[in-house]
Amino acid sequence: MEMPYRRLGKSGVKVSALSFGAWVTFGKQIGTTVADDLLHAAYEAGVNFFDNAEAYADGKAEEMMGEVLKRAGWRRSSFLVSSKVFFGSVGEGPTEIGLSRKHVFDACHAALKRLQVDYLDFYLCHRPDPETPIEETARAMHDLVAQGKVLYWGTSEWSAAQIEEAHAVCSRLNLHPPTMEQPQYNLFHRSRVEKEFAPLYKTYGMGTTIWSPLASGLLTGKYNQGIPSGSRLDVPGLEWLRDQLLGPTGKAKIDAVQKLSAVAKELGVTLPQLAIAWCLKNENVSTVILGASRVEQLKENLRALEALPLLTADVLRQIERITKAHAE
Ligand code: NDP
Repeated sequence: MEMPYRRLGKSGVKVSALSFGAWVTFGKQIGTTVADDLLHAAYEAGVNFFDNAEAYADGKAEEMMGEVLKRAGWRRSSFLVSSKVFFGSVGEGPTEIGLSRKHVFDACHAALKRLQVDYLDFYLCHRPDPETPIEETARAMHDLVAQGKVLYWGTSEWSAAQIEEAHAVCSRLNLHPPTMEQPQYNLFHRSRVEKEFAPLYKTYGMGTTIWSPLASGLLTGKYNQGIPSGSRLDVPGLEWLRDQLLGPTGKAKIDAVQKLSAVAKELGVTLPQLAIAWCLKNENVSTVILGASRVEQLKENLRALEALPLLTADVLRQIERITKAHAE
């Protein structure tokens, strides 16, 4: 099935409905050959947006992606690439993290170098920074846009109130406003995208580039019988994620995953395909960022597009019944 493209909110830029990101995999779990294969498989399937961040593997994810992009030699005009600022990459000194003008500028220049591009299509504030006024960050982003180093800026995991404040500041000072928010969105994590942000889509024309559509793999069924070695929840340093996903609510979620698998089987698709297609059903989702540590996973997930027409109102009701009690 042909890749559909969606407008990023009210902006004119068109993003592939499925995109591809580097968290945990690039610079950590995978080597250059797999990174090459993943990006090529994505691009060949029509993916035009690659997501990254200064913090992913302390900058190594951007370096790896930059090398692949350079080797691939694709027209720069044919793809979109992002970076995110907040957590830092090379150090944790007071000037090397957060959303101050200082760090936003330094991090942008470092990302451009690592990714080997002249400009970032999307540049996002990876988290809100309570120690920097939103006005300072918005001005820094505006200036980067004015300098041509960034085309569109956005936020990630900001509250509706913080996003509204950013828009108010930009409107008052005539600055380029944020174009997108990057929130977590999947069958177990819905309320911010569906409820808290509901008034924002029309008011500000906000787009969303959503992350962890498979809840880090929980929605593939791979954790139903424990933690397979080599899987994300087995990666050293990600114990916090394991606790988050398989902690007190883990058992109930795995029960739901098993029931969802039965629905997927009935439809003749795989569980990841069902879970990703479900995200795409939400018209306020501009793009679903996929993650994969193997090419076979990515190829399977890209075929979620084929599951989309199978999600009838009746199927959506079944999914709702199974997941309602477990969704945050
Ligand atoms: P998912 O929830 O889809 O998890 C992806 C992981 O699940 C893969 O790396 C793989 O892990 C496993 N997996 C995927 N497909 C399959 C399959 N078919 N069968 C078995 N296992 C599978 O997405 P991510 O959490 O990776 O998020 C996607 C992107 O979103 C990131 O790469 C990043 O760019 C962005 N992101 C942004 C955040 C933010 O704060 N703004 C936070 C997190 C992500 P494994 O094989 O290792 O088990």
